[in-house]
Amino acid sequence: MFPAPVRRLALLLACALVLPTAAHAAEVVVYSARVEPLIKPLFDAYTKETGVDVRFATDKEGPLLARLQAEGENTQADVLLTVDAGNLWQAAEAGVLRPVDSAVLRANVPAQLRDPGDRWFGLAIRARALVYSPERVKPDELVSYEDLASPKWKGRLCLRTSKKVYNQSLVAMMIARLGEAKAEEIVKGWVANLATEPLASDNQVIEAIDAGKCDVGVVNTYYFGRLLEEKPGLKVRLAWPDKVGPGVHVNISGAGVTRHAKHPAEAQQLLEWLSSPKAQGLFASLNLEFPVNPAVPADPKVTAWGPYKADPANVADAGRLQKQAVMLMDRAGYR
Ligand code: FE
Repeated sequence: MFPAPVRRLALLLACALVLPTAAHAAEVVVYSARVEPLIKPLFDAYTKETGVDVRFATDKEGPLLARLQAEGENTQADVLLTVDAGNLWQAAEAGVLRPVDSAVLRANVPAQLRDPGDRWFGLAIRARALVYSPERVKPDELVSYEDLASPKWKGRLCLRTSKKVYNQSLVAMMIARLGEAKAEEIVKGWVANLATEPLASDNQVIEAIDAGKCDVGVVNTYYFGRLLEEKPGLKVRLAWPDKVGPGVHVNISGAGVTRHAKHPAEAQQLLEWLSSPKAQGLFASLNLEFPVNPAVPADPKVTAWGPYKADPANVADAGRLQKQAVMLMDRAGYR
């Protein structure tokens, strides 16, 4: 928990940040780690269709969770919308989310993309893929995450920092699948193959390959999609690491209803709507992600990368094994 002055400050901020609304209108309040351009078009469509106002505040994942904890039962938030199963799992563990018993969400969201305890639900899939230089790498050399530890990649690999939850989740899923000793051996192999110090962002990994500093890297597909829109001349391609093993590491953007929601019914209805065919296309395509609802086709910009085989494991493991993953990466010298 946080000391009292911090809790008081958080309450003041909460009062200042959530906008006032018309009295008596049906409403739902969302704390979102997804930025405004990715959520406002959806919330506007929802309000237009249902008459329910959606108020929201955006911030980074960590501060939003801290704020929910500090506000406790005084929170105005009905929904927490955030990225990465690791973060959703943390929120559930911290006790700020409540179970939601919804046949609609169970039908729309595949089981491996939601909490086995029904406290959070995936709303879009983000895939962590390989990026490579088409000048220095042949596509059939790209096999799997594990293979990036093989000596053929010595001095050719770029990775984002292990501080980022995306890599913590990737390694946590490897621990779940292969056990800790094997996962550690692989991560040590990655570190031995690095061409540069770990980089600050997925974009820097792509740019380093473009600049010839390394030949292969690991990034979430939407960063590649966005950067390619900005710089169509990018000398970098995307490949699926699914030739051996369970397939591509997929993660989610997702949401849950807060434990102290003042509008729990409206919150559940919003999540159900976001998982429905009419919202899924827009929710995913705004950030070049994949819909979770199997009935909804992905954006053509995204399907252009070709089909892939996704790791079928439940993404909850990314949270459950996150601490172990962080310690493992530290032991392996992955900074
Ligand atoms: Fe991201």
